[in-house]
Amino acid sequence: MPELPEVETVRRVLAQELSGRRITSLVVRRPTFYRPPPPSSLHGLIGKTVTTFSRRGKFLSLVAGARSLVLHLGMSGRLVLTNRPAGNRTIKHCRFEIGFEGKTLRFFDTRRFGRVGGPLPKFGPEPTAKDLTPDYLRTTLKGRTASIKALLMDQGVIAGLGNIYATEALFRSGIHPSRPAGKIKPLELEKLRNAILFVIKEGIRLRGSTLNDEAFLDPYGNPGAFQKHVAIYGRKEGACGHTLSKTKRPIASRSAVYCPSCQK
Ligand SMILES: [Zn+2]
Repeated sequence: MPELPEVETVRRVLAQELSGRRITSLVVRRPTFYRPPPPSSLHGLIGKTVTTFSRRGKFLSLVAGARSLVLHLGMSGRLVLTNRPAGNRTIKHCRFEIGFEGKTLRFFDTRRFGRVGGPLPKFGPEPTAKDLTPDYLRTTLKGRTASIKALLMDQGVIAGLGNIYATEALFRSGIHPSRPAGKIKPLELEKLRNAILFVIKEGIRLRGSTLNDEAFLDPYGNPGAFQKHVAIYGRKEGACGHTLSKTKRPIASRSAVYCPSCQK
């Protein structure tokens, strides 16, 4: 699933390419794909000029003056920029097209977990030094019995982390993914917070992760490079040289990879 660094990579491309362009058309190919407002009300965007694209957690918003349209990539959605005009030609897995002067943005979604429209959910802080403070983590995780990995991936706790970046941050801070969040010591929490800031920053710098099973591509069709720098995610042997293990009990419905020597 695209996480914060992948969505931020998309946002930067779209903000650069589409800000200042007028919206000329909207082609809705699959009405069931949309959350309220209904597709017909999206047409109020036609004729408006794009101010920018914003991001909160893993959600993008197209901002056009006072109006905005939420875009969420879901499990494997992809936004593709093309110079071809939007039209009525059927394109496989293309759910939605927005035409701009000189550009078209296409939303492809094979697995249909993506969405267009609807309100933004409630989020925890963004993983930035200013917002994700050690104090915030201490007070939020205090007394919580859920595993630290599950809570890192809970968007109401921190916005934007998913399996890849949570796995990497836990490895870098030496914390076992199954540990009850409330039992993690203040010094470890500080390490964890710094590791989160680091992996997210690296993910953005490297323009996201493109893994075999979750092939993220930016709107130009370019892959990211973070997967070449992962310490444990998707690996059998960690960057530390140890053989990795997986938790028997799934966390957020998947078994979690960790290093039995480095993560306590
Ligand atoms: Zn290790």
